[in-house]
Amino acid sequence: MAVFEKVVIANRGEIALRILRACHAMGIKTVALHSTVDRNLKHVGMADESVCIGPAPGTDSYLNVPAIIAATEVTDAVAVHPGYGFLAENADFAERVEESGFVFIGPKPETIRLMGDKVSAIKAMKAAGVPCVPGSDGPLGEDAAECIRIARDIGYPVIIKAAGGGGGRGMRVVHTEAHLMNAIAMTRQEAGTAFGDSTVYMEKYLENPRHIEIQVMADRHGNAIHLGERDCSMQRRHQKVLEEAPAPGISEDQRKRIGSVCVEACKRIGYRGAGTFEFLYDDGRFYFIEMNTRIQVEHPVTERITGVDLIKEQILMAAGEPLSYAQKDIRFQGHAIECRINAEDPETFMPCPGSVDAFHAPGGPGVRVDTHIYDGYRIPPNYDSMIGKLIGYGENRDVAIARLRVALDEMVLRGVKTNVPLHQWILRDRGFLESGQNIHYLEKRIEERAGQSK
Ligand code: ADP
Repeated sequence: MAVFEKVVIANRGEIALRILRACHAMGIKTVALHSTVDRNLKHVGMADESVCIGPAPGTDSYLNVPAIIAATEVTDAVAVHPGYGFLAENADFAERVEESGFVFIGPKPETIRLMGDKVSAIKAMKAAGVPCVPGSDGPLGEDAAECIRIARDIGYPVIIKAAGGGGGRGMRVVHTEAHLMNAIAMTRQEAGTAFGDSTVYMEKYLENPRHIEIQVMADRHGNAIHLGERDCSMQRRHQKVLEEAPAPGISEDQRKRIGSVCVEACKRIGYRGAGTFEFLYDDGRFYFIEMNTRIQVEHPVTERITGVDLIKEQILMAAGEPLSYAQKDIRFQGHAIECRINAEDPETFMPCPGSVDAFHAPGGPGVRVDTHIYDGYRIPPNYDSMIGKLIGYGENRDVAIARLRVALDEMVLRGVKTNVPLHQWILRDRGFLESGQNIHYLEKRIEERAGQSK
């Protein structure tokens, strides 16, 4: 018997398809919820049932809580998988799902709430022994002298961040005292407008860190494990472009140490489900910045090097099953790299929705393609421009890169512009090949390239 009879997939695109695949492989029936423009999504056609939950704009469909709850009720589903984005980290939604008598496939609503506020998250993590960026240890008050003192103690440059911020928004770097109070006032105002919460805090601004994150899983019986790290330093405008596991240059000892710190923190806060601790890594040290209480886009690189099916485990844990693995069962083998494929102009990065005239997926050993697109699929303009992920694996980083290059060359995707040329370029870039670059590297290289072509 399946752990759940029927699961609602409250998301779209590649992650909805990924969840459907996991459910069907576990003998679980699926309900695909979709907007009016998403009737032709691949997983909608494959699901046991589908329900249209509203018009194209996300606010009217994928963020429409009453419609999602109603659809779960009418289809007699048992649990809801939120995927990533949309309502995945919305504590009120998780609460509504549970209050309505369904299982939310994710952490407890109060954990989502705790981690959703960065000030409370940092406080909880510090108390649990997780290393954090030196900072204000709480919200900044109105007293200018106090703010100036805190900044002096931390040392410039500092960064002012919104407690409720997300998606790389609500942050401001300050290099000198003369700009401090103005920056605080502006970030406060923006935060109030954008996130409905004007609370801001201060951190040391680390100038050239890498972004390294730890994947964790915890069940409802007090067991927790980590699945190693991912390096997500290849970013543009704080958005991840390419991710890899393991992170080059991180020793087994470092992995063990930071991994067990995260595991202990999970136990301490009663975490359950899959989650990610995001760190900035600078000068051999990890500094916690935030926790994502959901499955992440880049989860396949971890799946590839550990052999663990993270979505399946998520579902099992939500059903109350104990973790299928103990820490000693988790072995890391080889190297995996993920390229996020976006429908966008490779030079200007403007989204390019439209019709996919032809699509041929690459294949072969060590190649995984997670995408919902197919010949004739129309990419609607209403959502994120990511249309799929290409994951390359090999016994080491060089082999993974070589296979990815071939796969990118092999992929045929006509009708819309994509960032495939950007990935082809990154995978031949000397700095990337040397590995271990910081979070500003890609952006700098893109600027240099634009300068050269003028
Ligand atoms: P969000 O929730 O918006 O993604 P994060 O706190 O995760 O915000 O920060 C996003 C990005 O901003 C980080 O990946 C990093 O590039 C940059 N950043 C955040 N805090 C700092 C810091 N203290 N020093 C340097 N860069 C930072």
